Amino acid sequence: MNSSRTVAFSKNAANVFFHILTACNLRCRHCYINPAQHGTQTLDIETISSWLQVFAAQERAANVIFLGGEPTLHPDLSAAVKTARNLGFQSVTIDTNGYLFNNILQKITPDDVDVISFSLDGATAPVNDSLRGKGSYETCLNGIRQAVSGGFHTSLIYTVSSANLHELEKMPDVLVGLGIERFFIQVIGIRGESAHNAGAALNQVSPEAWLKTVPAVAEAVTARGISVIYPRVFLKPDEPFECAGKVARNFFIFPNGRVYRCPLCEDYPLHGGVMTSGVLTPTPPINEADLFNLDILEGCVMNRLIQPDNIRYASDGAPAYRIACCLLKEEAPARRPRRISDGSIGAP
Ligand code: SF4
Ligand code: SF4
Repeated sequence: MNSSRTVAFSKNAANVFFHILTACNLRCRHCYINPAQHGTQTLDIETISSWLQVFAAQERAANVIFLGGEPTLHPDLSAAVKTARNLGFQSVTIDTNGYLFNNILQKITPDDVDVISFSLDGATAPVNDSLRGKGSYETCLNGIRQAVSGGFHTSLIYTVSSANLHELEKMPDVLVGLGIERFFIQVIGIRGESAHNAGAALNQVSPEAWLKTVPAVAEAVTARGISVIYPRVFLKPDEPFECAGKVARNFFIFPNGRVYRCPLCEDYPLHGGVMTSGVLTPTPPINEADLFNLDILEGCVMNRLIQPDNIRYASDGAPAYRIACCLLKEEAPARRPRRISDGSIGAP
């Protein structure tokens, strides 16, 4: 039985995905960071604090997620986390590749951060390391063990592509063995490295492969007491389509000051806002907000523009299915209660 439910976009909460730098020690094959579009600077703590204040003031009940690049490479991540906590964000999350630089676990406590979210893209070292780099599997597992033994709440993000779908079924055992409390399954986006580095190209999986594997794995994970969140991806014929850019409050902030509302726009200068002198200023048309208003039979406009290969058409020319907003998630709650903040959400 599938006990998952679709998580509608929350109209009452905002999510602030704050890329405080774009530098990283890894070179993952599917990395979405695009320095030409996102900048190469490392924001200083004063700028981070002032931008956090902007979102704390304008958004009620906002969740903040610190990411990069690798956010633990930032020497002042601990100060940023504490500032966010003091500003009253509903939840504070760190997304990390598990290397946990700058002794971050010694500089923060489980009271400072709601969740530390680790990225792992294989159930075994050979598969994960072929995507994320040699040694990254063991390092990530060690990082998770340190965090769990330090009393931190942990989640894990697995980005599905044709290179690692076959290992997803092994993940329930891995998650239980590590003490992970929430599992995020992502679909690889054709952007960043996946879009621009032909040698690194990875494929999205077919609708059939996705639907055959992902919901079943989600059920297997929830049966072990771990909640799962995964993208909806394909809408059923009678399901309404909604664009999160129009109905939800998500902000993807980059070190060059760009603020996007849609992750699929991040490879292009389509950002709807920019941080100038500590103020969030809308950018003039045409920007992503103008695209959100286009209603098309294929569902998501940006998907149709940048990754049309995942749409199929029937003989009458109509799309065989509609692509859901990449921010629409399916949630399968744990069958046994586990501690974790409801406010945390995974990176796109
Ligand atoms: S995906 Fe994350 S860990 Fe991998 S290279 Fe990009 S920023 Fe670094
Ligand atoms: S992914 Fe598509 S539907 Fe979602 S916010 Fe972007 S343009 Fe809108």
